[in-house]
Amino acid sequence: MRAEDILVPTPAGLWSPAAEVHIDPVRPVPRALITHGHSDHARAGHGAVLATADTLAIMAARYGADFAGTTQAIGTGETVRIGEAAVTFFPAGHCLGSAQILLEAGGLRVVVSGDYKRERDPTCTPFELVRCDVFVTEATFGLPVFRFPPAADEIAKLLGSLALFPDRTHMLGAYSLGKAQRLIALLREAGYDRPIHLHGAMVALCRLYEDRGVPLGPLAAVEGRTGGREKPALPGEIVLCPPSTLGDRWSRRFADPVSSFASGWMRVRARARQRGVELPLVVSDHADWEDLCTTVAETGAAEIWVTHGEEEALVHWCLTHGIAARPLRLVGYGDEEEGAAVEAVAPAP
Ligand SMILES: [Zn+2]
Repeated sequence: MRAEDILVPTPAGLWSPAAEVHIDPVRPVPRALITHGHSDHARAGHGAVLATADTLAIMAARYGADFAGTTQAIGTGETVRIGEAAVTFFPAGHCLGSAQILLEAGGLRVVVSGDYKRERDPTCTPFELVRCDVFVTEATFGLPVFRFPPAADEIAKLLGSLALFPDRTHMLGAYSLGKAQRLIALLREAGYDRPIHLHGAMVALCRLYEDRGVPLGPLAAVEGRTGGREKPALPGEIVLCPPSTLGDRWSRRFADPVSSFASGWMRVRARARQRGVELPLVVSDHADWEDLCTTVAETGAAEIWVTHGEEEALVHWCLTHGIAARPLRLVGYGDEEEGAAVEAVAPAP
């Protein structure tokens, strides 16, 4: 059996001829394995979906209970037989429920990483290294410039700014699934125990995390609507909001807001300045350059396939280190996560 009998790229996404399933398909398919709940990987409308219980819960919260014909939950470390393949899910450390997927057939092991990170995250199960013959990796931050500092250091910057500007509301832009909850958990670890205020778009997923056993401490939904007469002001408080609301009408109701944004893209200072972000925080739920290279090497894979992101640089690194590699150029990933989020940040008024 060849690797291509286990997995091939198709316009709908990765397809396994051996198991007759797609992984994270971008179009509705009869049978899908889903790595995690971000909307570029987990879409509604498939016939049957196999995913972790947390990912199924996230999909139900976002799309409604009838997001697929049938669903089946799989635990991490659990193996199910599908067609000619054995399928096992392993933690990816990216967000609640995120998993890598191992497909084994004919003595060959192929791992699809989905999105992943190696840095500690109190809101999800840590990444587990899986040795394999072919490692199919993301490369969202696959350039040497992307080296991320410890997230706790970035949280300290936010708390330092709060101490320095006690009369200003700190507007913290973050992606609503994963990043928002991780920032809250990191703030709690740093000893911040005041209520954290949430834009309406953040409330449901924070509640879901808490329901599924991730404590977030006191949270308060911001009242009032965009353009309403209400003035929440909230000086000296943290307001967690979608990046697209930074600098817009909604955020002007707060006390001399400090615009902050937590993203791997904030590693590029020019990008933060260009978007009018006063307090950029380099916090990412993706592996940075060093962790991508380390992981690729540690899997022991003889062959690396790069699905999306900065594919060429990682492929080049693999080739210069004697590892066969090729870009898959999958289309449709990274749309609604950090990449899109940074594009959506409004320019400075
Ligand atoms: Zn993701």
